[in-house]
Amino acid sequence: MPRRPALALLGVVAAALTFVACGGSPSADSGGETLAVVTKPLVIATTPIVGDLVSRVAGDRVAVETLMPPGADPHDFEPSAAQAARLRRAALIVENGLGLEQRLQPAIDAAEREGVPVLSLGELLDPLPLDESGDAHGHGADDDHAHSGETAVTDAALDPHVWLDPERMARAAMIVAAELARVTNADDATAATLRNDAQQYAAAALAAATTAEQLLAAIPEPRRILVTNHDALGYFANRFGLTVKGVIVPGGSTQAEPSAAEVADLVKVLRATRVPAIFTESTTSSRLPDTIARDAGGNVRVVVVTTDTLGRTGAADSTYAGLITELARRIADGLRST
Ligand SMILES: [Zn+2]
Repeated sequence: MPRRPALALLGVVAAALTFVACGGSPSADSGGETLAVVTKPLVIATTPIVGDLVSRVAGDRVAVETLMPPGADPHDFEPSAAQAARLRRAALIVENGLGLEQRLQPAIDAAEREGVPVLSLGELLDPLPLDESGDAHGHGADDDHAHSGETAVTDAALDPHVWLDPERMARAAMIVAAELARVTNADDATAATLRNDAQQYAAAALAAATTAEQLLAAIPEPRRILVTNHDALGYFANRFGLTVKGVIVPGGSTQAEPSAAEVADLVKVLRATRVPAIFTESTTSSRLPDTIARDAGGNVRVVVVTTDTLGRTGAADSTYAGLITELARRIADGLRST
């Protein structure tokens, strides 16, 4: 997986940027004058979560486009030819990075080679290694199974799901504000406004963390254990005092298949820990979680949570704060039930 030096190209190509015409069509009641066409730098975000962050920090100072629609699996999303071409005309690309956008990455790398600056947020937010919580794949002491289908991500890889820690996203907002100021050559007043908007995003993220903490406090200590479909919840668990005991899909992505031995190990983990729920994501199939829950017997429920995208406008999880509090609410409900 490509790892680029942080911020390496930012600011280098400011003179060659594409600007997007917005508004400015001649107005019928403007007394014959043609309004000046307002041009705005084009900033392309990868996931809805990154796009929401950039939009809230940028306001209407730039034109923000988000490549992935709500509900798309970011591990699996491939751009159209038109999107790939548009990436090459951006003033700035903001990605999560750390291998999250694995099928989109070649198009981002191609744009970067042509001089488009890429802000890769994850690597700037103290990423955690995958399997931070130790026994996350449900392996026993003999952790020697080969992961079938696991190719792109090694055991030494970093966990890309940084956004599920609100403190990290609060820091991301300030990073985005600084980069937007830089690539748009913002004056001091505009840079201050960008910082102010970033602080508002950060405050909302931290308030969501407080709400999540309160919701998750209802889970008794022995039940603060997560079994998930893919390894999305490492940062969330780390932040809120939960332990990831089992993950069905190996490798930190959604793009691998567990071996039969790994599935058998997970069933053992579910039976041994008496975990009442497997959490699976709105962006993936629940076929394997359903099968494993059935094999585990008992009353293991499969609970769908939003982790890797935002919900559509109007849904409880259509904003970042809503994503965090809704995730906490569903986990608390799932782990309290018997
Ligand atoms: Zn994921």
